Amino acid sequence: MSYLSGYGIKHPIMNIKNYNFETGIYRPPSEGGSASLLLRFTRNCPWNHCTFCAMYKTKKFQLRPVTEIKADIDTMARLTQALKSAAAALGHGENITRDAAISLMEKIPELNYHQGFSMLVHWLMAGGKTAFIQDGNSMIMKTPDLLEALGHLGTSFPSINRVTTYARARTLVQKSSKDLLSIRRAGLHRLHLGLETGDDDLLKKIKKGVTSEGQIQGGKKAMAAGFQVSEYWMPGLGGRALTRAHAENTARVLTAVNPHYIRSRPFRAIANTPLHAQIQAGEVTPLSPREQLMELKQMITALEVTSNVCFDHAGNNWRNAQGRILFTHDYEGYKFPEQKDQVLDLIEEGLERTQKN
Ligand code: SF4
Repeated sequence: MSYLSGYGIKHPIMNIKNYNFETGIYRPPSEGGSASLLLRFTRNCPWNHCTFCAMYKTKKFQLRPVTEIKADIDTMARLTQALKSAAAALGHGENITRDAAISLMEKIPELNYHQGFSMLVHWLMAGGKTAFIQDGNSMIMKTPDLLEALGHLGTSFPSINRVTTYARARTLVQKSSKDLLSIRRAGLHRLHLGLETGDDDLLKKIKKGVTSEGQIQGGKKAMAAGFQVSEYWMPGLGGRALTRAHAENTARVLTAVNPHYIRSRPFRAIANTPLHAQIQAGEVTPLSPREQLMELKQMITALEVTSNVCFDHAGNNWRNAQGRILFTHDYEGYKFPEQKDQVLDLIEEGLERTQKN
């Protein structure tokens, strides 16, 4: 055990020889800021074909050995212990503070350049309650490996009460119900699923690699295993030609799954993606913001769920009559069916405003 001194007081830093752990870039907004500890179980996306997505396009998917994941968790736990010791030495008890982090950084200057240290500190200062497993689809890990990594996380950070991750519906279909149940029981609580659309023609065009039936099966299996399921869809994804089919079939699939959360991510073409090139070539005509709102109206009208319907992304930037953002960006959104009429009224308000512009 080695020692450092903060303001003249000696305290242990638990023999930290290696401060490195990996952190990926992407996570859902609801896991952002200081909300979640970001843990990288796999690197990038094992599918990587979706034509609208730029997230991991230049990167190759890699499974990480469980020993490496556990070593990352151990490093985070040792740093946490060192931060607590630094806080105690400053008279802050076990409350990790900014001053404690600065004290540790003074003793270990490498932490100034550490890609994940600030994330860890802010997460701990926020209470250290939730974790997000990166990258694009760690559910593809072998089930025993995933169970071992989740178990190690729970033992190392008993304060965590919610663990979430991205997942692909196709992977959920491929996993057995028994495996899904054991993963849920090992401490993974919520799955963020990229539905994008429930329309089969559009799913094929955007190369999602799954049919609407697969989306329904995957979503339902996750629900049956006891996961909280959060489904993301993209208003405007099919352009003008597919707007009606996109709205109707998305409502059909979401109604069949009835997930806990439905989250809107209005489509914006991202440079250097195949879909952007199709738009540039005139093969797909994108919707205007007003047309996206009309599509949203069709989808919401047909939606029969008991979900929370959310607009928790900056892209949901339609305005009301006063020029304010139309929908709350709150992560819990609107409870359906109770607030369905309210959402439809807001859509009408937004449509009236765009009519005048
Ligand atoms: S599965 Fe998700 S991360 Fe992978 S290419 Fe498709 S949208 Fe992007």
